[in-house]
Amino acid sequence: MSANPLAYLGEALDDLRASGSYFRLRELESACEPVCRADGREVINLASNNYLGLANHPKLKEAAEKAIREFGVGSGAVRTITGTLAMHMELERRIAAFKNTEACVVFQSGFTANAGTVSSILTPEDHIISDALNHASIIDGCRLSRAKIHVFRHADATHAAEILEGLKDTPGRKLLISDGVFSMDGDIGPLDALVPVAEKYGAIMMVDDAHASGVLGRNGRGTVDHFGLHGRVQVQVGTLSKAIGALGGYVCGSKDLIEYLYHRARPFLFSTSHPPAVTAACLAAFDLLEQEPERIEALWANTRYFQSALRDAGFETGPGQTPITPIHVGEAREAMEYSAALFEEGLWATGIGFPTVPKGKARIRAIVTATHTESQLDQAVEILGRVGRRIGLLRR
Ligand SMILES: *Cc1c(COP(=O)(O)O)cnc(C)c1O
Repeated sequence: MSANPLAYLGEALDDLRASGSYFRLRELESACEPVCRADGREVINLASNNYLGLANHPKLKEAAEKAIREFGVGSGAVRTITGTLAMHMELERRIAAFKNTEACVVFQSGFTANAGTVSSILTPEDHIISDALNHASIIDGCRLSRAKIHVFRHADATHAAEILEGLKDTPGRKLLISDGVFSMDGDIGPLDALVPVAEKYGAIMMVDDAHASGVLGRNGRGTVDHFGLHGRVQVQVGTLSKAIGALGGYVCGSKDLIEYLYHRARPFLFSTSHPPAVTAACLAAFDLLEQEPERIEALWANTRYFQSALRDAGFETGPGQTPITPIHVGEAREAMEYSAALFEEGLWATGIGFPTVPKGKARIRAIVTATHTESQLDQAVEILGRVGRRIGLLRR
């Protein structure tokens, strides 16, 4: 018998166990709600991206059910064959109008929107100037484009400008790209500083608003709206998988950009389009964003409430610009142990360590939603404090 040619994978997993970054998938046994059931336990859920509580909203479910009855469960093909439903086009028009851009294309996910867009609009002769903490889907898109990648220090527009200055006489297009909200620290990308830099050097400006869609700007229009930069960011990516409550990603921009992506973005061309239920749920979500802005207000009120209660309890939470709340602990192993102990006590909050964040910067990441009650948030802070003291991560 020959040796197992995949034996090295088992060794890699052993390394993960040794470094404390091995994990097991937790199983959610109820809908994604502020309190849910997972792994046989009732827990307060501060781990999801369901910012507005739309993932289990009756109006989205009703729209999805109606779409299934009328149109079935699958779209049957990729968009360019027979997989473009009228409702796909309606959703794209709806998002373009919402974002105040000429056009929009919806992808299967935010990941494919980023990867498919960056890889198709650039060539190996071009240059990408990318924030050090940009999302994995941007990094993959950059690699697939084979353009030259220049990384600027996180949120440092001056460094981005220095890189562009150095490339001034180098041929090729330049793309300046940043997350709108960074998913690990919850800080807002400095678009107000980056956009003038892009304009000065004639670079394409692109923002990935996955964590800003439905969260920042009027009715959740995102960071471009938050900073008042309409018309100055050529490529805006958003997700339908987080605050919007369903699944998908989108790109907004000029009509030419969107038509080009219809013709060249590989996930659009080579992967089947959304099932009717997903698209109908997204349309219902945009109705709610426009009709019930109080959901977003509740999200921000809960964010302020939770972050101030954490600070009062002696936690180090960072700048706290968005509902993403990092609670710093140190090493990956500590973050994983803390997260596991919290879960046992009824709080679900993700432990994140190297390589997702740098060594020594491991944290618990808590994400508040609009639908948590103050009493649930109080309980969460109490559990964080009690467990933190017990395992020696908190001094008081
Ligand atoms: C979650 C996320 C994505 C991917 O979005 P999906 O719709 O979940 O694929 C892209 N970019 C950032 C910054 C994200 O946080």
